[in-house]
Amino acid sequence: MYKITFIPGDGIGPEVAWAARRCLEATGISIHWDERLAGESAIKKFNTPLPEETLQSVRDNKIAIKGPITTPIGTGFRSVNVALRKELNLYACVRPCRTFAGVRSPFQNVDLVLVRENTEDLYAGIEFASGEPFTQQLIAQLQAQSRQPIRPDAGISIKPISKSGSARIVTYAFEYALAHGRKKVTAVHKANIMKFTDGLFMHTAREVARQYEGRVAFEDRLVDATCMQLVLRPREFDVLVLPNLYGDILSDLCAGLVGGLGVAPGANIGDGLALFEAVHGSAPKYAGLNKVNPTAMILSAVMMLQHLGEQEAAQRLETAVEAVLREGQFVTYDLKAERNDPTAVGTKEMTEAIVEKMKRVKVRVS
Ligand code: NAD
Repeated sequence: MYKITFIPGDGIGPEVAWAARRCLEATGISIHWDERLAGESAIKKFNTPLPEETLQSVRDNKIAIKGPITTPIGTGFRSVNVALRKELNLYACVRPCRTFAGVRSPFQNVDLVLVRENTEDLYAGIEFASGEPFTQQLIAQLQAQSRQPIRPDAGISIKPISKSGSARIVTYAFEYALAHGRKKVTAVHKANIMKFTDGLFMHTAREVARQYEGRVAFEDRLVDATCMQLVLRPREFDVLVLPNLYGDILSDLCAGLVGGLGVAPGANIGDGLALFEAVHGSAPKYAGLNKVNPTAMILSAVMMLQHLGEQEAAQRLETAVEAVLREGQFVTYDLKAERNDPTAVGTKEMTEAIVEKMKRVKVRVS
C-alpha cells in the first residue's frame, strides 16, 4: 500500500486532481490518500496558503500529486507553487511533451522532455521595487561597482545561478536520459550576454557532459535560437535542460507544439521526494464547470506510477488515455476541431471513458 499526499488545489484543480485519483484507483494499485490543503482553500482554514502540515505530509510520504493552485494576491507569496518546490527542494521539473494521435498539433512525432531547474534564477524571488529607499541605495552601489548606468526609477530583480545548482540539474538530465533510453541532452542558455549566470550554467553543463561522453550526446544552444528551432524542427530535440525562467517559458512553447496545456504533464523531483502536477494552472474561469481536459493530470499520474515502479499499471493507464484521445469521441471541448462542438464531453465523462478503456487494455511489460 502506498501512502500518497493528495492536494486538490484551486480553480479547476479539484476536478482534474480527482480525475487523476479516480484513474489511479481504477488501476487496482492500493493507495492510502493523505489529503492536504494548499492555496485558497488552505487560507480559510490555516490563514496561510502553504500550511506546514501540508509540507510535512509530503516530506513524510515522499510522494504527492497536486492540482494547480491559484496564486492568491496579497499573501506575501509570489507563487504558492514556486514556494512549495523551494521549501521541499524539488529541484528538477520534468515535463515530457509528445504528440498523440487524435490531438491536433502543428507537428507529428514530437517526443521531447524538458528538464527545468526549479530553485534558482530570476524565480528566486529576490526583487526590489522601483522608488523604494533600499532600491535607490542598491542602484547607487551597483553603479559604483559596475560602472554601468541604471535609471533611478528602475526596479531590480536578482538572478542567482550557482555552479552546484547547475551541476545538479544537468546531472539529473543526463541520468534521466540514460534511464529513459534518450540519446541527446541540449543545454539551453544565453551565455553570450549573461556571462556570469548563464555562462556558468553553460560551462558547468559542458563539464558534466564529459562524464557521459559516448553514452549520451550533448550540445548547448542559445535560448532564442532554440525557440526558433523548436518551432521549425522539434524532432531534432530529445532532452532539454534549462535554467528556471527559460524552462518555464519553453514548457508552454513545447506544450503548444503538441496540442496545448490540456495534454502537458509534469513532475517535480528532489532527493527522495516527488510531486506530480500538470503544467497548466488553475484556470479559474472554468472552475466547477466540469469542462476542462483531465489528460494533463492523468498523464502526471502515469508519471507517478512509473516513478513508483508500477510499470504495468502505468502502461495500462497511458494506453487507455492514448486510445480515448485517438478515438476523439469522449473528449473535452479543447480537443474538438471546433471549441463549441456540442459533442464535447465534460471532465468526468472523459475520465470515465479512460477508466472504461483501461478495463479492456492488455499490456505486456518486459
Ligand atoms: P492556466 O494554465 O490556469 O490557464 C490558461 C488557459 O489555458 C485557460 O484559460 C484555458 O483556456 C487553458 N487551459 C488550462 N488548463 C486547461 C485544461 N486542463 N483543459 C483545457 N484548457 C486548459 O494559466 P493562468 O490563467 O495564467 O493561471 C491561472 C492561475 O493558475 C494563476 O493564479 C496562476 O498563478 C496559477 N498557476 C498555477 C500553476 C500550478 O499550480 N502549477 C501553474 C501555472 C499557473
